[in-house]
Amino acid sequence: MPGPQVLRAARLFDGVSARLIQQPMVVIDAGRITGVESGPIESPTDAEVVDLGDVTLLPGMIDAHVHLGFDAGPRPVAQMLADSDATLLLRMRLAARRALAAGITTVRDLGDRNYLGVTLRDWFRSGAELGPEIIAAGPPVTVTGGHCHFMGGEADGELEVRRGVRTRVKSGVDVIKIMATGGHMTPGTNPSQPQYTVAELQAAVEEAHRLGRSVTAHAHGPAGIANAVAAGVDCIEHCSFRVGGGRQPDRRLIEGIAERRIAVSPTVGTAPSTRPGISTLAESFLPILEDMHQAGVRLIGGTDAGVSPGKPHDVLPYGVAFLARAGLTNVEALAAATSVGAEACGVGERKGAVKPGRDADLFAVVGDPTLDLGALLNVTAVFRAGRRVDVN
Ligand SMILES: [Zn+2]
Repeated sequence: MPGPQVLRAARLFDGVSARLIQQPMVVIDAGRITGVESGPIESPTDAEVVDLGDVTLLPGMIDAHVHLGFDAGPRPVAQMLADSDATLLLRMRLAARRALAAGITTVRDLGDRNYLGVTLRDWFRSGAELGPEIIAAGPPVTVTGGHCHFMGGEADGELEVRRGVRTRVKSGVDVIKIMATGGHMTPGTNPSQPQYTVAELQAAVEEAHRLGRSVTAHAHGPAGIANAVAAGVDCIEHCSFRVGGGRQPDRRLIEGIAERRIAVSPTVGTAPSTRPGISTLAESFLPILEDMHQAGVRLIGGTDAGVSPGKPHDVLPYGVAFLARAGLTNVEALAAATSVGAEACGVGERKGAVKPGRDADLFAVVGDPTLDLGALLNVTAVFRAGRRVDVN
């Protein structure tokens, strides 16, 4: 184990505070942050000092919704179906490393096949290779023929849903993902309509909570969102209020989400130069996001990375910028992808902030992202549990 390490930079965003820390000195030991100082202080004599120069240090970002097993190509489902598990695992490893090099030090994988996300999580955790922290859901719980059924997680009725949750926990998942509505990438399902009753979703929540896991529900249409809220899920994915080709936001439902402190991972953010039709649809989500933010809903950084060419595994900075367009301040948008996201993903004690006791997951960017979120694209260094990542 190497000795203590000191990172120096021009500025530090600690994940929470609007005011940047000037001339920070972050002390790291055994993979954890042990001290955060500022000003012209001498570095500890026994420490290896890394001066990163005129950059802003930030806590590593958290993408709360990715699919490492989707290749961000034009036909991600067909590709996944064509891949053997061995090939898929290698693809997931590349996707994870791409995220890490962009400063995304934690990813929540909300849908894999055969628990390959759990396998990859454990591989990185062994320390044999540097990868992001993976919070793995395994195959999403879905109805027969339902959204993402090809991942292998079909369960109908309360009993099978309960068994589904138990099987996932037995297989080592960190979080339960359940498909409350149909989805756009699965033919034969209807994103506007619920897949599960409130009682079925409640069975999932009850069982997951009993086993110490949180539940996040994929939900597009308002009826499915309402079911998820009534069932007491911890987080909602998309929450797009999509009905047919349009959107039907529901003010009271949004207030209910805020009151129950349910986090929303809106899966926004698209890398440039994709088809214009997609961005028009994305634009129509802005006023709804703005309403959710105004109502006090906890919005977090989640992108659905991997599902299309506009969603490469390092797309999160575009998601953060999109949140800022929906009325979050730059600092609030950065917090959504760091401290707020960490808390919502159940890793708030370890991730999302640069504070003593937290994991030494940090990255450095040129410029000041609190003034210009575009700075997030200009990454010069990434550290994962104190180990420096090759960003090239
Ligand atoms: Zn997804």
